[in-house]
Amino acid sequence: MGGKKKISEVLGGMHGKIFYDEPMSQHTSLRVGGNADALIVIDSEEQLSQMVRKLKAAEINYLPVGNLTNVIVRDGGYRGAILLMSGLKEIDYQQTPDGGHFINAQAGAALALVVGLSAVHELTGLEFCAGIPGSVGGVVWMNAGAFGSEIKDVVTEVSLLDLSGQKRTLLREEIEFSYRRTVLPGEAIILNSRLKLEKGDREQIRTKIKENMQARQRKHPLAFPNAGSIFKNLPGEPAGQIIEKIGLKGQSCGDAQVSTLHANFIVNKGKATATDVLALIGLIADRAKKEKGIDLETEVIVIGEN
Ligand SMILES: Cc1cc2nc3c(=O)[nH]c(=O)nc-3n(C[C@H](O)[C@H](O)[C@H](O)COP(=O)(O)OP(=O)(O)OC[C@H]3O[C@@H](n4cnc5c(N)ncnc54)[C@H](O)[C@@H]3O)c2cc1C
Repeated sequence: MGGKKKISEVLGGMHGKIFYDEPMSQHTSLRVGGNADALIVIDSEEQLSQMVRKLKAAEINYLPVGNLTNVIVRDGGYRGAILLMSGLKEIDYQQTPDGGHFINAQAGAALALVVGLSAVHELTGLEFCAGIPGSVGGVVWMNAGAFGSEIKDVVTEVSLLDLSGQKRTLLREEIEFSYRRTVLPGEAIILNSRLKLEKGDREQIRTKIKENMQARQRKHPLAFPNAGSIFKNLPGEPAGQIIEKIGLKGQSCGDAQVSTLHANFIVNKGKATATDVLALIGLIADRAKKEKGIDLETEVIVIGEN
């Protein structure tokens, strides 16, 4: 039985928005990628756990995603179900009796809205995130960071759906954070994150957010579809600098180009395919190894079939 047919039979009768044979190029920020057998818009925790149960029982792969701003889907597409967490988007601010300030955010909430809410309540701690286009779930899963801070600095709890379909909450000290990756139990789906912030000065917070956004506008090639940093930085040496040193700034494969503005970004100049992007990534990695003896590791997550 073909993947697409099998999945539609398995999910037949389930409530919610399900798109079969969905072009992922319409959803990834880089605007590349083949079709997913199914893309399911998750709108409640109950629906999510039912979907996961059904998919698991039928041995169909699934992957939770947020805003797909750090994912490349290969041109052969994804065999299985992409679980788009965008319907789980509640955010609330809470002040505890002992004077603690927290924002609780569901996984699909846009990080930009969380940063905005923190500014409204004059809370400091999230200014570094301003301009990161991810969802809260994606940002926590990636341990996203910028300007010397990481989301781990403010996360106090993460609730997730574990492999056995149970909801559980992990405290900060039970979670292992590393550079651009949070180590969670296998196949865990992040549902909620609790962020601890501090009361700050309204003007200082707003100014910092503005400065960070301006720095991004200056340094990042935001006029073209992209997926943020392609490679992880090395201690003391940004990946972009290494790519410049090996002379690949501006290099193209088809319509995929190493940005002329920031060499750790690959931009889609129009009709780039995932194959073009991955060829460019391969070329950079090979040249960095050959010419500098450096093993560059991708920060972007690559999924799907060739
Ligand atoms: C212009 C631009 C600038 C960027 N700047 C930065 C930056 O400064 N710093 C930085 O760190 N990143 C940056 N990024 C990359 C990206 O925005 C971050 O990595 C972000 O954390 C990804 O969030 P997302 O919701 O888009 O995740 P996705 O791309 O959808 O997913 C990323 C990974 O997280 C997993 N995931 C997503 N949601 C869940 C969930 N609920 N449960 C379990 N796993 C999940 C996915 O399976 C996937 O493996 C930038 C990207 C762009 C396009």
